Amino acid sequence: MHLYLHVPFCVRRCSYCDFSIAVRKRIPAEEYVDAILREWGSADLGPAARREPFRTIYFGGGTPSLLPPEVIADLLSVLTPGCQPGVNEPTPAADVEVTLEANPEDVTPDAARAWQRAGINRVSLGAQSFDDTVLKWMHRSHHAARIGAAVHALRGAGIENISLDLIFALPDELHRDWERDLDLALALRPTHLSLYGLTVEPRTPLDRWISRGATRAPDDERYAEEYLTAHRRLATESYEFYEVSNAARDGFRSQHNSAYWSGRPYVGLGPAAHSFDGTTRRWNIRAWEAYRRAIAEGRSPVESEEVLTDEQGEIERMYLGLRTAEGVPLAAVSPRCPSPPRHFAAQGWIEVRDGRLKCTPEGWLRLDSLVNELTMHSETQS
Ligand code: SF4
Repeated sequence: MHLYLHVPFCVRRCSYCDFSIAVRKRIPAEEYVDAILREWGSADLGPAARREPFRTIYFGGGTPSLLPPEVIADLLSVLTPGCQPGVNEPTPAADVEVTLEANPEDVTPDAARAWQRAGINRVSLGAQSFDDTVLKWMHRSHHAARIGAAVHALRGAGIENISLDLIFALPDELHRDWERDLDLALALRPTHLSLYGLTVEPRTPLDRWISRGATRAPDDERYAEEYLTAHRRLATESYEFYEVSNAARDGFRSQHNSAYWSGRPYVGLGPAAHSFDGTTRRWNIRAWEAYRRAIAEGRSPVESEEVLTDEQGEIERMYLGLRTAEGVPLAAVSPRCPSPPRHFAAQGWIEVRDGRLKCTPEGWLRLDSLVNELTMHSETQS
């Protein structure tokens, strides 16, 4: 089993973000922990989730690094059987991947040491760009110089497994130098990189800027060019793209996200968190206040659930499998697929090797349409 905790608080909303967040100057840490622990205590998790230690724990958000380190330690001590926060000897938690998403601004040497003592052994830094003009446009709360300082603070505290998030395909008028950003990220020698193309989500500041003509939506050509540039550049530094948006040095794939992509069960706690037991997916109320109220009143925070039909299961397995470097077995291709896999291979979109079908970088650029064709369904999730 794998555990995800959604920490919904942010100091401001980034211009492109439509996540479930609550903008707060003061983080209601006590209320948050109280709600999470109550949800944990009452959730219908099945016996395995309570008996077995989680294989991975992921604090995502929002901005989990806004939580005081002692709150993170308290949560880990309750949620990880065998974890002994504050004990510096090897503990059962040492082989559990425990990730904290952090804003570079929050990573001080003291915070990094406290996280390490609490059991955090992997940090995912929301770097996004090394250009201050771009960071300001994104409404990020950090300056570029903070990214390197954060990496050094983490290493100084003994946290070596560090991932950097970068966003590409930004609007032309920002004159963002993508190759420079890649070089600066690689100079920090992160173990892992997550690269996301900018997408325009409804009702975000970016969506409003585009509607009133203040900026233009990023175009597909720039997206493809920068995506392929990243593949070429990272390959020269021995990073492997093991998933459509994620690249890692040998031995540093995200175990937590890999669990999602291989369809393993997971438990999600907190507003908007999803859980999956192998057949049923449940998700919590999205807004923090409504979630907190439900828990305080003794009601279930689950907003809804779905049981995957055979057809949905087939599409999902194809979609998740093709996202990864492992791909899918050839036998997973629908007999109704109008073109044989070699047709897509001839276009340079897939490779067929050892009885498996895998996307090339060019194939990953058209993942949704490939899944549609290979499963012969008209809609996929994204
Ligand atoms: S820090 Fe992350 S979650 Fe918070 S507003 Fe920015 S993108 Fe959204």
